[in-house]
Amino acid sequence: MKVSFPRMGNSYLAFRWLMDALNIECIVPPEPNYQTLDLGVRYSPEFACIPFKVLMGTYFQVAEQGADVIITSGGCGPCRAGYYWVMHQRLLQENGYKTRVIGFEEPQNNYLDFFHKLNFIRKIGGVSIPHFWRSLKTGWQKVIALDDLEILSFQTRPYEVKRGDTGRALQEALDLLDQANDLNQVEKARRAGLQLLRDVPRDETRNPLKIGIIGEIYVLLEPAINHNMQKMLGEMGVIAERSIYLSSYARENILTEGEQDVRAAARPYLNEPCIGGHGTNSIGETVLYAKHGYDGVIQLAPFSCIPEIVARSILPRVSAEHDIPVLTFFLDEQTSKAGVETRLEAFIDLMDRRRAVRQGGRGADLLKLPTHRDLPPLVPELVVAAKT
Ligand code: SF4
Repeated sequence: MKVSFPRMGNSYLAFRWLMDALNIECIVPPEPNYQTLDLGVRYSPEFACIPFKVLMGTYFQVAEQGADVIITSGGCGPCRAGYYWVMHQRLLQENGYKTRVIGFEEPQNNYLDFFHKLNFIRKIGGVSIPHFWRSLKTGWQKVIALDDLEILSFQTRPYEVKRGDTGRALQEALDLLDQANDLNQVEKARRAGLQLLRDVPRDETRNPLKIGIIGEIYVLLEPAINHNMQKMLGEMGVIAERSIYLSSYARENILTEGEQDVRAAARPYLNEPCIGGHGTNSIGETVLYAKHGYDGVIQLAPFSCIPEIVARSILPRVSAEHDIPVLTFFLDEQTSKAGVETRLEAFIDLMDRRRAVRQGGRGADLLKLPTHRDLPPLVPELVVAAKT
């Protein structure tokens, strides 16, 4: 039986390893491309959000390659994500594919269902229960290590002396991690990979801008959908911190009732623990980024994503009260890389000027403004600009 899964950034390396370890034939989903989008858009309802369409396209591609089972995640609460794997299953069937989609819901919603599905996967490979748990544990550590490497690469790129050094070091680190086959080896590869990134020659005289990226999980995690925004910002000399990584998301939302600090920060603006997706988080994380001295925040929202639309309507107030600019990108199949790049450049120029004004630098001289507090709020204008 051939098994596949959704592709989200580099996490496919850990899932591919896990399938091999479980003795399961794996079909690695291709990186989302024009064909993926074309398939997804053709067979999805028009109003569906971009994650639904991209995943639909991916599932058609892996089904065409012979996938019998697709393992994915479900969802609960007001967001329609909870229906998505069921809809994907139906659309595959309607188009003649027998591929079965298995959606994992949060275990605390139904432990029995969760472990029943895990056991189904174990039986596909025919491995013992101890071997299964050992492999899961190693796969999980790989996910954590992948995130650690990515985080350091985003912190390193804005300082790199030679363009591309960080990317090359990261690729080498990922290759090392890909070779690791047990917990010990994963830890060794993680450390060696981090060292490779630390060895990248840096120009420490730089003082890069810091941006927090918030929004819906899929568009945050899959670079092909957000046009590799984090890397793009790094190449522009900006430290871009992302609010969600797969390991932190799993730890804080699936394994625990976490993210209490984010929800507490959001409460004055939205007193609802969950409006679906990551809407509440987007508000709380903006507050926290402002408190941690970030220069700006970028919200990535799939077009027609209700939770992010709700967050977007509240963010101008958050940004005005916490004095932090926010730029919203609504992403869909029409979004082009050139458009994203141009708006990022404009946003960076504005933040740069803002910082100069704050520090009494060039901007202050030009504008003849005594302090940044005398400036009109930048955010409402930026958000309007982002919409047009
Ligand atoms: S959070 Fe938004 S983008 Fe994600 S599934 Fe829900 S509606 Fe779609």
